Amino acid sequence: MTIVGAGTMGTGIAQVAAQAGIAVTLIDFAEAAFERSRAMLERSLQGGIEREKLTREQADEVRERVTWTTGWDSLANAEWVIEAVYEDPDAKAEVLARAGELAPEMTVIASNTSTLPIAELAEMSGRPERFLGMHFFNPAPAMKLVEVTPGLRTLPEVTDAALDLCARMGKEPRVAPDIPGFLVNRAFGALLAAAVDIWLQGAEPADIDGALELGLGHKMGPLATADLIGLDVCVALLDSLHEQTGQARFAVAPELRALLEAGKLGRKSGEGFYVHGR
Ligand code: NAD
Repeated sequence: MTIVGAGTMGTGIAQVAAQAGIAVTLIDFAEAAFERSRAMLERSLQGGIEREKLTREQADEVRERVTWTTGWDSLANAEWVIEAVYEDPDAKAEVLARAGELAPEMTVIASNTSTLPIAELAEMSGRPERFLGMHFFNPAPAMKLVEVTPGLRTLPEVTDAALDLCARMGKEPRVAPDIPGFLVNRAFGALLAAAVDIWLQGAEPADIDGALELGLGHKMGPLATADLIGLDVCVALLDSLHEQTGQARFAVAPELRALLEAGKLGRKSGEGFYVHGR
């Protein structure tokens, strides 16, 4: 497998694949990314050993299976290419066109995009029949879900192969439609906006989250989840959903934007809907 983009997601996905016995080449255009990527992998492997999720031998096998390079030679033998570069259409276009040129005809190219339409990325790859979205969640080694999103022209057997690959990597994939936010972010955006609306009517965050946890069987309410993700990331998600769908339910309340302006970003800044210990 070749993964383009040795950042947070590319590195996490590389670990997941390597743990499943798959040799992975991580390509990045920035040499500086490799040090960060190696350190990230190392931290994650150490954490896995400490939590007894994997043995020292398994961690060694993962280290042996992952290689980092700025060259694109590995594309010539890749069965799978996963694109995980910046969430920028120009960066994606360049990388996908290059992957489409260099990879063998039967290779499937997948994008880990969070917000860009799969049908459009599919055309950039020059092989829309053998292209789809594979949206991993952060941190990829821990999160079970992968949203698998076929584009308009993706062959059914390519979707099946992606679902099989996810299962082989110990993931629980779900097919998600090619709509803004796919499945989880779409639903989370709507739930978060509703929770913010209830908060603005005077309810306390702990009551909103507690009621939704107990009433819907969710492990964590939307406001606590937003604090965990970062309110800046959540506002960007809502803005993107609002812009792409035109639906008023995704409009960001001025009071939520005001939290950002006050530097209240959630856990990472010590305060969001809740005050957190620093
Ligand atoms: P990141 O910034 O950590 O890593 C991106 C990497 O891509 C960088 O190392 C950069 O040097 C490299 N890169 C950029 N342009 C390149 C090019 N032309 N050729 C080669 N390498 C290039 O980003 P990330 O958080 O890992 O996100 C990657 C993708 O995954 C994005 O599409 C993002 O939307 C998606 N995603 C992110 C998360 C998350 O929580 N971070 C979750 C799910 C999906």
